[in-house]
Amino acid sequence: MKDRYDVVVVGGGPGGSMAAFKAAKGGASVCILEKDRDIGYPVRCGEAIGESGLKQFGDIQPEWIAASITDFRLVSPNGTRIDTRFSGQKGFILHRRIFDYDLCIKAASAGADVFTKAYVSGLMIEDGYVTGVRLNHLGDEKVVRSHIVIAADGVESRVGRWAGIRTNVKMKDMESCMQYSVANVDINPNRIDFFVGDVYAPGGYLWVFPKGDNSANIGIGISGAHTQQYNAKKLLDDFISREYPKAAKLTSMCGGVPCASPLKDAVKNGLILVGDAAHQVNPMTGGGIISAMKGGWIGGGIAAESILTHDYSASFLNRYNQVVRKDFGDTHHRFHRIKEVISSLTDRELDSIAQNIGKIPEDKRTLTQIFKACVVKKPSLILDVIKVFAGV
Ligand code: FAD
Repeated sequence: MKDRYDVVVVGGGPGGSMAAFKAAKGGASVCILEKDRDIGYPVRCGEAIGESGLKQFGDIQPEWIAASITDFRLVSPNGTRIDTRFSGQKGFILHRRIFDYDLCIKAASAGADVFTKAYVSGLMIEDGYVTGVRLNHLGDEKVVRSHIVIAADGVESRVGRWAGIRTNVKMKDMESCMQYSVANVDINPNRIDFFVGDVYAPGGYLWVFPKGDNSANIGIGISGAHTQQYNAKKLLDDFISREYPKAAKLTSMCGGVPCASPLKDAVKNGLILVGDAAHQVNPMTGGGIISAMKGGWIGGGIAAESILTHDYSASFLNRYNQVVRKDFGDTHHRFHRIKEVISSLTDRELDSIAQNIGKIPEDKRTLTQIFKACVVKKPSLILDVIKVFAGV
């Protein structure tokens, strides 16, 4: 490890690897510091991703894909099922362990140095500028200097806070998640299932994502507003015993998903926040892989430009905020507004919406229709629904 890099990236997830790739491609000397022993492991993710989002970053490698998804099912509290086919595009369930690893190889191939077991414990701040990080690497305390630090340290991010950015997430917007990887389940290998309502997952949803060979990720996310009252593990365990009594639970994990609006200002002098650290998760779905990659891509590119121009100031880096807002930030704000309304629906209202949608012939159902039906109590949001699904 050198004592100085142009750009230090904290975290080797999708956001960090994309940021490092773009910064290195732009001519900067870059290192990734990852606290865990392995890149891509442990996996804390349902691993669902859209094909169109993924394609933006290059060819999709077959070894990343555990299952191809063409259909989705929404189940309302009283068990009403709405089956819908994705029109035009499909989705995937990834092997994130392989996927994250490959993204990091991409960054390394572009010239980034990668260090695991490198735990960043603090920032160097001089004259109001972030000028590097303090870390423990394989037992040795070190300081690495930089012109730009990119914080891609995920949902538990502390780097932003160290620099004075308010990164706390309101309880109601923090989804507490638990997931099992299970085997021996008899499920449709090309369909993802979502179960909604207080009986399944208060303020969130419960998911069943197939991973091929009768295996699946089965998980639950409940809003932090309900964690005193409900126990996510119990809800999930009860669901699995009821629906998949023969399931073998191979792994289990817990984690948080910040389903908030993205941070409006994710930069300081010498610092850029990307991915979960900048609350870039889609607040409606809880999906954050693509937006972390986008945040990293944009942030890494702007970091490289700042190195070329020798301007590491927040006013130069502010362009990152603007590009993110235009690319997906405004859409995520809209999703957040829609989520607020949907999470206020009672189980009875969800059942009634499901019954109405059920009357639309299956081949005519679209996601836009479903979401329009969900926000009918607040007609001002119908335009938001149209905009997010039209990609405006
Ligand atoms: P991460 O992938 O979390 O990477 C951050 C990295 O930083 C980690 O490797 C961590 O070890 C490292 N790090 C943290 N602190 C330090 C430090 N101090 N020093 C060095 N390294 C550090 N998204 C989807 O798109 N689809 C899904 O199906 C989906 N399901 C999910 C299910 C669950 C239960 C959870 C919890 C999340 C899910 N997500 C899903 C969200 C998705 O996993 C994240 O949005 C995505 O991983 C964010 O990428 P990132 O690079 O910002 O952060």
